[in-house]
Amino acid sequence: MGKLGVKLAVGCAVAACVVASVMVGRRVRRKRAWRRVMRVLEELEEGCATPVERLRQVVDAMSVEMHAGLVSEGGSKLKMLLTFVHNLPSGSEKGTYYALDLGGTNFRILRVQLGGQRSAIIGHYVDSRPIPQHLMTGTSEELFDFIALSLKDFVEMEENISEHSPSERRELGFTFSFPVKQTSSSSGILIKWTKGFVIEDMVGRDVSECLQQAISRKGLDMRVNALINDTVGTLAVGHYHDEDTVAAVILGTGTNACYLERADAIIKCQGLLTTSGDMVVNMEWGNFWSAHLPRTSYDMDLDADSPNPYDQGFEKMISGMYLGDIVRRVILRMSEELDVFGPESSKLHVPFILRTPLMATMHEDDTPDLREVAKILRDTLEFPEIPLNVRKLVVRVCDVVTCRAARLAAAGIVGILKKIGRDGSGGIASGKNEGASRSKMRRTVVAVEGGLFTNYTLFREYLNEAMTQILGEEIAPSVIIKVMEDGSGIGAALLAASHSTSSVDTIQIP
Ligand code: ADP
Ligand code: MG
Repeated sequence: MGKLGVKLAVGCAVAACVVASVMVGRRVRRKRAWRRVMRVLEELEEGCATPVERLRQVVDAMSVEMHAGLVSEGGSKLKMLLTFVHNLPSGSEKGTYYALDLGGTNFRILRVQLGGQRSAIIGHYVDSRPIPQHLMTGTSEELFDFIALSLKDFVEMEENISEHSPSERRELGFTFSFPVKQTSSSSGILIKWTKGFVIEDMVGRDVSECLQQAISRKGLDMRVNALINDTVGTLAVGHYHDEDTVAAVILGTGTNACYLERADAIIKCQGLLTTSGDMVVNMEWGNFWSAHLPRTSYDMDLDADSPNPYDQGFEKMISGMYLGDIVRRVILRMSEELDVFGPESSKLHVPFILRTPLMATMHEDDTPDLREVAKILRDTLEFPEIPLNVRKLVVRVCDVVTCRAARLAAAGIVGILKKIGRDGSGGIASGKNEGASRSKMRRTVVAVEGGLFTNYTLFREYLNEAMTQILGEEIAPSVIIKVMEDGSGIGAALLAASHSTSSVDTIQIP
């Protein structure tokens, strides 16, 4: 080998060494980055942990807060609002009624035909439309004119099809799923907006009146004779089908719950008399807060960036509006450590770009190579081809966030049951014989409605599992979670019907 050949060989060897060391360096860096990402995941898991002992603390906190909210106005973050609904539908309601359900994402118009016998909802017809984004932050007149016009179209179409022109004035139940201070069973004042709505001129005004005026402006002959919350509607339908239904929970864009309380337990309204001795209480549990809730830095950032900081803390951890965005925040944090997410994806910085249904699709992707996950990451977040181990990581994040949400919702439900003595704890405490304690536990039904619960199988499974863990194998079978599809809307029609037939006002407020 000549001198040149030696130089060349040495040069090649040096180059090979450099390449090798660069590759080794890169591998070491990637390994370190991966370790840091795994640390982010571990911290998330620790921060979101909901062992059953912690859930029991949440159960206790919920029932304590419920009590405090019933003792005095402002006594708790739980508003525990009176609904003026004290007689749930009996099953004897008859006739055709309309309902309007303004939730968070969609609004639904329903026409419900009642046959007059329990479970005889002859038919119901639903039209569901998204609420245009600009109407969520406009004026009340714009929002209600749009709703009234849609209602008029629906009524005309339905009555054309059924060739039915009513001899009497049409009656409507209005489900309005925002915090309202009821002034009667058919009227109430908006306390505040939630779920991304900001229509300032509505706050403090009578919600039914706004709708009634818009209906009149559109020349429709219809009377708003029930104003309810979606939880109350769901409870009404639940109770209509099954008299053991004592509470209702919404798990959709937002979350809330109501339940049947003894009137004499509503201490802040001493002397309240109802014929049934009961009153449905709208908890507004989205605003529940307790130091026992497992809160992470992602929750704090989400809260700080929201239009309503320090508000709706429970809702921000468990409802469909927020879960996807918590996941987005975690992935964003991970992308700071790991460059496989590609160049600083600007899409990942866009709030709420990762909607909860997409997150659920990723979570429930059962293809071996997680194709759906890759597709969503590519189409929604504009990530390049993501390696399988990172896709698995994203699924894990979805799992942690949803598992926490579902388990906290379960703890909230048991909190209600504890408040009304339906969690079996009394029986267990007093009974030496377990079989006897179980026989004391009455069958108890909780009606649930909302897209998060009905469409997200893993959420449902986690919730059911946590219910059994908290209540214990003995008691759990006595507590039944029942899905009420369209419950909030049909319930409004049922209450419109029962209000229309009950002629005397049987509530006495001191
Ligand atoms: P609203 O709360 O507006 O009355 P829904 O009860 O239909 O409406 O709930 C809609 C919400 O449910 C959506 O905003 C979304 O967060 C959630 N959701 C809908 N579909 C799914 C799904 N497939 N997986 C998870 N969450 C879903
Ligand atoms: Mg709804």
